[in-house]
Amino acid sequence: MGNTWKKRTKMVHAGTRRSQYGEVSEAIFLTQGFVYDSAEAAEARFIEAGEDEFIYARYGNPTVRMFEDRISALEGSEDAFATASGMAAVNVALMALLKAGDHVVASRALFGSCEYILGTVLTRFGVEVSFVDGTDLGAWRAALRPDTAVVFLESISNPTLEVIDLAAVCEMAHGVGARVIVDNAFATPLYSYALECGADLVVYSTTKHVDGQGRCLGGVVLGARDLIRGTIEPYAKHTGGALSPFNAWVMLKSLETLDLRVRAQTATATALAEALAGHEKLARMLYPHHPSHPQHALARAQMEAGGTVLAIDLKGGKDAAFRFLNALEIFTISNNFADAKSIVTHPATTTHQRLPDDQKALLGITPGLVRISLGLEDGDDLIGDVLQALDAA
Ligand SMILES: *Cc1c(COP(=O)(O)O)cnc(C)c1O
Repeated sequence: MGNTWKKRTKMVHAGTRRSQYGEVSEAIFLTQGFVYDSAEAAEARFIEAGEDEFIYARYGNPTVRMFEDRISALEGSEDAFATASGMAAVNVALMALLKAGDHVVASRALFGSCEYILGTVLTRFGVEVSFVDGTDLGAWRAALRPDTAVVFLESISNPTLEVIDLAAVCEMAHGVGARVIVDNAFATPLYSYALECGADLVVYSTTKHVDGQGRCLGGVVLGARDLIRGTIEPYAKHTGGALSPFNAWVMLKSLETLDLRVRAQTATATALAEALAGHEKLARMLYPHHPSHPQHALARAQMEAGGTVLAIDLKGGKDAAFRFLNALEIFTISNNFADAKSIVTHPATTTHQRLPDDQKALLGITPGLVRISLGLEDGDDLIGDVLQALDAA
């Protein structure tokens, strides 16, 4: 495979494994097991399986392997292990690296299920977790200790789109010997420079931009080969969070169009940010690559583009936010993002509902905050829809 190929070429060709039939479109190997030519061949494969040799689909499968190789080529990582969902990927990454007595530092603004694993599950097994304000480098420095084994963060936080300085946090973490896991959903595998910034493992919910059409759950952990095959794979393959070959096939084929889709969605997000900046009904408009974003320069330095999601904060609070949501004609009200269909979410009453009010305030999840995920509809239609709904609010 051409190592000099650009990403768009790799997204169509990387990882392809053809069967003896020479199919053009990648095959779905919907099989749990694999047949050996002889008893000796079975024995040899259990001693060491070669690159194209599989044993059991929980360990690996040709369609899943194609997906792992293709997304590795996009991320620029040596290897990857695919999982049944984004949360399976987060769980695998943390559990494979940690043991009782270890210390973890994590940014406070986390996806709810990540917060549950860190704050509830790991503590039960004797792992100590410190949460910090991810944008405050002094807080990271103060929290890191000689026994810190893992640093966990979302490169762009949900739903307020704060940016964490990856290079600075990775350098500090490596200074105490900790490994850095970056949950990178909002940065997208297309725009991210997380590995270049020093991340040891990058995790995606491929449910988001990679599928991008609201169908399958999936996840992946990416990083150096010895870490993926030596540390992540043994834990992952024995604990059962394997990606199904069918879902891997959907994700594999989706990578062929990822660049086109995400760039189109980003163009609309950028145009919408422009149209909404300074709007009289808004207290805040948050989009990482818009000049009004408080960490605009940092966002530009560690992300090729601003992504497909923006957030607005309506001055009229919850009532105005609800009037806005209900007045939208094209956008659907849901809690996912990065879909071909444009989606709006009111975090305070849905995804972040169970957080106590003081936590919501700390994370900037105000009653007027609405997260807007731009889909593949016509950009002018979407911007028109948002503007008329703001009038109605
Ligand atoms: C969606 C999401 C997850 C979980 O992914 P699933 O595929 O739903 O399990 C984890 N982290 C972030 C940042 C997410 O956006």
